[in-house]
Amino acid sequence: MAKLHSLGFRRVGQKRELKFLLERFWRGEITEQELLDQAKVQRRVNWELQSALDFVTVGDFSLYDHVLDTSFLLGHLPKRAQGVGSDLDQYFCVARGRSTKDSLRIPAGEMTKWFDTNYHYIVPELDEDTSFQLNPSALTEQIREAKELNKPVKVVLVGPLTYLWLSKSQSQINKLDWLSSIVRVYRELLGVLDELDVDWVQFDEPILVTELEDSWKKAFSETYDALSGFRVKRMVATYFGELQDNVSVLKGLFVDGFHIDCVRGKSDRDALIELISDQQVLSLGVIDGRNVWASDLTAILKELMEVHETLNERLWLAPSCSLLHVPVDLSIETDLCSEIRPWMSFAVQKIEELQILGEALQDRLKVADALQKNQTALESRRSSSRTRNEKVREALQSYEDVDGFRKTAFPERKKIQASSLKLPLFPTTTIGSFPQTSDIRSVRRSFKNGDISEAEYVQFMKDEISQCIQKQEDMGLDVLVHGEAERNDMVEYFGEQLEGFVFTRFGWVQSYGSRCVKPPIIYGDVYRPNPMTVEWIQYAQSQTEKPVKGMLTGPVTILNWSFVRDDQPRSETCLQLAVALRDEVEDLEKGNVTIIQIDEAALREGLPLRQAQWQDYLAWTTRSFRIMAGSVLDSTQIHTHMCYSDFNDIMEAIADMDADVITIETSRSHMELLKAFEQFRYPNDIGPGVYDIHSPNVPNCQDIYTLIEKAIRYIPVEQLWVNPDCGLKTRQWEEVEPALKEMVSAAQLLRKAYV
Ligand code: GLN
Ligand code: ZN
Repeated sequence: MAKLHSLGFRRVGQKRELKFLLERFWRGEITEQELLDQAKVQRRVNWELQSALDFVTVGDFSLYDHVLDTSFLLGHLPKRAQGVGSDLDQYFCVARGRSTKDSLRIPAGEMTKWFDTNYHYIVPELDEDTSFQLNPSALTEQIREAKELNKPVKVVLVGPLTYLWLSKSQSQINKLDWLSSIVRVYRELLGVLDELDVDWVQFDEPILVTELEDSWKKAFSETYDALSGFRVKRMVATYFGELQDNVSVLKGLFVDGFHIDCVRGKSDRDALIELISDQQVLSLGVIDGRNVWASDLTAILKELMEVHETLNERLWLAPSCSLLHVPVDLSIETDLCSEIRPWMSFAVQKIEELQILGEALQDRLKVADALQKNQTALESRRSSSRTRNEKVREALQSYEDVDGFRKTAFPERKKIQASSLKLPLFPTTTIGSFPQTSDIRSVRRSFKNGDISEAEYVQFMKDEISQCIQKQEDMGLDVLVHGEAERNDMVEYFGEQLEGFVFTRFGWVQSYGSRCVKPPIIYGDVYRPNPMTVEWIQYAQSQTEKPVKGMLTGPVTILNWSFVRDDQPRSETCLQLAVALRDEVEDLEKGNVTIIQIDEAALREGLPLRQAQWQDYLAWTTRSFRIMAGSVLDSTQIHTHMCYSDFNDIMEAIADMDADVITIETSRSHMELLKAFEQFRYPNDIGPGVYDIHSPNVPNCQDIYTLIEKAIRYIPVEQLWVNPDCGLKTRQWEEVEPALKEMVSAAQLLRKAYV
């Protein structure tokens, strides 16, 4: 009989319990012991939700990030965090940096996105004297808890090669030089797992779905040979895509089993069946771990019958990847539209789907009702009139490529904008949001719950906006923003006002640490019934002589941060979004808004994991952006913002978007981005983020000045803007005001130096 397992489960809890615990701990309201005890409760809940599975998976839980956990497990933490207190202090010190309230200021580790997801991990840091030393106590404690459930235990680890590959080194040394020291520690760990009588260990090696250099491919067999000779059985797991030619890497790999993603990498399945020996297990990730739609169980079963006959108990079934990336439980979503709800499946339902598949392989009749119910839901979705809007489809047909181009080239536009906007050299601005205080959140909630009237709500928000404008004027910023107080989330806010979206109440997904996002679900054709932002921005503009930026989220980001319908290509959904948002841009312009920022925070993370597919993705995403932005006057300044620094390799595509100004994250990675300018001269204006908003540290004027001087080596001064590296909504005013004052002072000094 096929065995059922999951590669990992979400950690934040059904109602984000872990988030609130962490935040209480960071505020000093609960002790370390209380935090750890509650984390234990949370793990227990997670395992109970997966009780239908044949294994208890351990090691997927984390207090912040599982890559950081791996760094701790391997005794590999940056020198600057060593010895700053308890283990947990050191851990959070790397995760979040240490605030200026202490005499010691310690920067946080760099954070970046986990493959093509919106989950962020803390990048392991390698330097010449990096050493590793096994530190297994946190993991062994969890294994002991898992053993109490009296089921086979499977430990999940980031595989040694993926770990190294995700690491960064400031020096030029080949990362593989560290491999043997890492493997030594993993070996030691396997010894510990043997002592604890662990049944399986799952090494996650998702780098196998990317294009790998030969040296990395070769390293697999060496590594897994070296990790043999233990009692614990070893599985290598890949996910998020196709193995393609990396199938050959798995060939002859000395392990006890493989897991592959059968949703995105369906074509690998037959190759794997060919390749495995009759001792090896094959785990097929047949349920989509990256989306919220109910699986077609009958279709999956049809494909599984034969494999099951061949492999029998050597066939394992699982979601395609960890369930970290989907909401937890559809059954608590009591407000969802009753027609659409049965079309969906969240983590708990995905486990149920697995269970149905497992049983159906044994005795199909036993689950005939469940299979029928699944078919009915799929049929209801296929035939529903709610997913199609003929007007939208006709409108899309009428767009041609020229609709996405500005009328005049940038150098000419720059002159026109300079004469109307009259900004100084090194203009200062922010990325859009200002602190979302508890007052703001509670008023938004009251309005949503109907506890206050619309008039009261609007008045409160207007007061917030005018205070925010006043503060920005006092701080001396040049281009102001309205502060986004009325927005819960940069995607949800727009999704709620567009047709074709539905929303969950508890569908939170971890983004980083305690930060969660609640992605909207795009189920049908998208259009904009009414203007969405114009009144707020006009109000903000009425409060100041300085220009206020209109603030929109771009089509690619809405797409990448939503759960997207899987019944048409993503590119088509993206274009629908672009056309809907283009109307908003036009309405802002008609309302005399002269600067419009279109955030494309998530453009890069949607890049396919294989470079061979990048061109296609970049073509349709940049086209969508241009279609949204392209109809404005030359005098309207279009900004865009992106939340990452490593876009060296997509610089040309970003230049093709032709935004007049781009603001980007760079400070956490020491302006690494600037390297790109050695190869490619970015033609338009650019604001490389000068301080890290993810950390509570307040930057100082001198550091900011130095960073910009670094930028000046690569970017002409007249192209440079000065801004933080992302929105400020997660920060407190007490941090933001001094930080921005330092930033403005740095810009003022620069103006003197570079007149
Ligand atoms: N305008 C948004 C903000 O300032 C951008 C957020 C983001 O880039 N993630 O919050
Ligand atoms: Zn950002």
